[in-house]
Amino acid sequence: MTDDFITINTNPTATKVSLGEILQLVDENDPILRTVIGEFDFNDPSLDPQKISDDLTKTLKTHRAFGIAAPQCGLYHRVFVIGAEDSYITMFNPEILSVSEKQVHMPEYCLSFPFLELNISRPEHVTVKYQDVNGKEHIDRFVGITARCCLHELDHLNGQTFHKYAKPLALKNGLKKREKHIKQFARELVAQRRITNA
Ligand SMILES: [Zn+2]
Repeated sequence: MTDDFITINTNPTATKVSLGEILQLVDENDPILRTVIGEFDFNDPSLDPQKISDDLTKTLKTHRAFGIAAPQCGLYHRVFVIGAEDSYITMFNPEILSVSEKQVHMPEYCLSFPFLELNISRPEHVTVKYQDVNGKEHIDRFVGITARCCLHELDHLNGQTFHKYAKPLALKNGLKKREKHIKQFARELVAQRRITNA
C-alpha cells in the first residue's frame, strides 16, 4: 500500500517521494455523494494535504479520467484533482469567482456513474480561487474541458451530481442507455468466462 516509492534523483541523500495509493471509489448510492463537504483545515495536524493530493492523483490516473473529488473516494475533504497525462492540479477549498455567459453543450461522464453519458451545458470559462497542498492561495482561469471539470468536481464537494443539469428526457434516455450497456457488459463477461472454461 504505502510502499510505492521512487527516488527522485541519484543523489544518495535524496528523499523518497510517495506516489500515493489507489483509493477505492464509493458506490453510486453512497450518501457522501449527496453531502456538502466542509472547509479543509490546513491547521489540522491529523490531515496530510500532500498525501491526500497524491492518493487522489494516483486514483485519477489509474482510471484515466479528467477529474476526481475526495468524496467520490469516501473522503470528507473539500478537495479535488483535475488533469491528464503529466499535468495535474489539486484544488483545496475551491471557490468559483466568475463564469462566462457563453455555455458549451457536450457529453459529460462521471467516475461515480460508469457508462452514464449526459449531454449538458456548462460555462465555457471559469475563474477559480483555491489553495494548493501548502495552503497557498491561487486564482486561475480555466477554459473548455478544464473549466467543465472544475465545475463538475466542485459540484461533488457540494453534494451534487451532473444528473441535475440534464433535461428530463435526456436524463431518461441516458439512464436507459446506461442500463443497456451494463447488461451488455455483464452478458459479454459471462460469455468470456464460458470460453475460458471450455
Ligand atoms: Zn463526477
